[in-house]
Amino acid sequence: MNPFLKGVTDLELSVILSNYSRTRRTETIANNLGRTYQDVKEIAFGLGLSQKPTEWTRIKMRKLGIRRCSLCRCFKPVKEFKSLSFCEKCRHKYYKEVYRNNSSKKFFYERLKGLKRHARVLGVKFRVNKKWFKKWWNEKDYCYYCGSSLFKYLLIQQAILRYSGKNKSIIRFKNLHGLKYVKTFTVDRKKSHKGYYPANMVKCCNICNIVKGKYLSAADMKKIAPAFIRRITRLIFI
Ligand SMILES: [Zn+2]
Ligand SMILES: [Zn+2]
Repeated sequence: MNPFLKGVTDLELSVILSNYSRTRRTETIANNLGRTYQDVKEIAFGLGLSQKPTEWTRIKMRKLGIRRCSLCRCFKPVKEFKSLSFCEKCRHKYYKEVYRNNSSKKFFYERLKGLKRHARVLGVKFRVNKKWFKKWWNEKDYCYYCGSSLFKYLLIQQAILRYSGKNKSIIRFKNLHGLKYVKTFTVDRKKSHKGYYPANMVKCCNICNIVKGKYLSAADMKKIAPAFIRRITRLIFI
């Protein structure tokens, strides 16, 4: 879907491709082609020769409900973008890459950005600095609630998500709202109504995070988590 190249002839494309540059006068090209200045600007934008849309082009995109992805440069429906500058496909690719390495610079950057965004959505405070976060994240890889190691949690998660048997308890876990492949530990706010600041943050597995939700206190969760993880482990593996 590239609305800016619709009805543009091959000849026009090649003229613009070989002549368009920021220093050359766009009007000259427009005159030679018998097109308007705005036409040439739009085609150049559609071709990726110019990165910044003109006000007109921006209005046109808004009307069509599309945006340009900053990674693949394709035009996609606005709803694909959420609050990012890239499309759904690129987002999946990007985050897969980011989360592959649990300690890369990009990983910390994205993780913090994600928490900050979440805090903004919830309207709670965010008091975390990068240095502290990095140190804290690298500290120990155990779920604060159930005590599972990252490896154990990933095994359980995978087994639950792949489960195709009839055991109701496991199926209940499988149907937990929000249970999906999460490759790293998640960040939980012990007091769910409060924000992200060191004393309120713990690392925990996604399963515990979902089960705790906003209804259980951290102390309650710490009491029950080891037992239900033990139970689910028994059900799945024994
Ligand atoms: Zn894209
Ligand atoms: Zn856990």
